[in-house]
Amino acid sequence: MNEEELTPHFEELKKELEGKIDDAQLKKELNTYLNEYRVTIDAAKRGIKRKYGVDPTLAFVTGDSITKKISDLAGTEMNVDIIARAVFTEKKTVSVRGEQKTIVSGILGDETGTAPFTVWEGVNVDLVKGETYRFKNAYTKTWNEKVQVNLGSRGKVEKAEGVKLDVPDRALSADTTDVKIGDVRDGIGNVNVTGRILSVETRSITVKGETKEVHSGLIADDTGKIQFSAWNDYNLKKDESVCIKNAYIRSWKGIPQLNLGDRCEVSRVDDSFGEIDAAASSKKTVSEIMSAGGGLDVSITGTVVDMRGGSGLIKRCPQCNRSVLNDECATHGSVTPVFDLRMKLTLDDGTGAISAIVNRPDTERLIGVTLAAAEGLAKAHGDIEVVAREIAPKIIMKKVTVTGNVLIDEYGPMMIVKKVEADVVDVKAEAERLLKELEAAL
Ligand SMILES: [Zn+2]
Repeated sequence: MNEEELTPHFEELKKELEGKIDDAQLKKELNTYLNEYRVTIDAAKRGIKRKYGVDPTLAFVTGDSITKKISDLAGTEMNVDIIARAVFTEKKTVSVRGEQKTIVSGILGDETGTAPFTVWEGVNVDLVKGETYRFKNAYTKTWNEKVQVNLGSRGKVEKAEGVKLDVPDRALSADTTDVKIGDVRDGIGNVNVTGRILSVETRSITVKGETKEVHSGLIADDTGKIQFSAWNDYNLKKDESVCIKNAYIRSWKGIPQLNLGDRCEVSRVDDSFGEIDAAASSKKTVSEIMSAGGGLDVSITGTVVDMRGGSGLIKRCPQCNRSVLNDECATHGSVTPVFDLRMKLTLDDGTGAISAIVNRPDTERLIGVTLAAAEGLAKAHGDIEVVAREIAPKIIMKKVTVTGNVLIDEYGPMMIVKKVEADVVDVKAEAERLLKELEAAL
């Protein structure tokens, strides 16, 4: 890429980084990403933004937002205002990175159409069905050619006083759709699916003082697998194939689940799925996962473009296992922390970026540095951060395949990695080199 082609990207980054780095430094960063790491310009931009603390998945305000009608939304808006009626709203509590938060989702509509929306942050107005609101500083995404409206931390919902909208009262469709399991999404209404039961178990749970049985497990077809829960006993058995009619979708931590409620019908069908490997994960791209709103047991192959803060040697509270700074746990006060090793990676596969949290055993295996060695190194240097600095060059710009469940929140997709494969380091040589350095430091 020549100077001239690079200029608009340079200017865009400069604006978004808001003086966090000077021009020379930015040029150097771009050069490193493009010529040394050899990534695409989009990956380079995302990597640099992340590095300097600008989350590239967040909408940023580049000036005044514009107001659009729903039918004019392209699904790529970063900052847009929409005046629309709340056709349907629902408050839900979701778990975002281990924290409970309340979000509001639903359908909004104007004269030109309807679109699903989610307010992720600071729901400052109790949205009332049928009322008209101004959704400010929203950003949009598309799934299945349908635009979705999102409000993040910069978004705002205000009552649109005195605005008259001629919105036809659309009843939400009560029709059920036949879908492949791989296409099941939150918000698609009631569905019919056909698949093979991979596992099923019955548990007793207590709901409002009453003991109930819930039957849950995994069901799969040739496109994917999904967890299901049934409140009635359909006598589901492992390895049998069933057609489930009128099930509904609920997401748990961003991962859609199939719920068999009272209106659901189950019938046995001939199995036409052939080999289904229950342990197999499905290969997905980041953009496919973004469209799906999350994923169960998916694999992504991409390049590690960043290792973020909170990686390397970290301290955890011995009681709640949360990571702690300055030996202070938010819940348990002053504690004697235990050490752990992990990596918080940013992986880019060319369609988008995903955050991947790699646990201690996989970190040790990939990097060739054990927790004990990392502790030794930190001690020798009198600095815990030295471990992250040692690890980073070994993993950044390496191609890795990660497998796990992907949760999505307003910061983008995140995977708790269950399995990771990489062409990384000569572990033995690395261990020897580290040992030498350790000895030299003592
Ligand atoms: Zn604690």
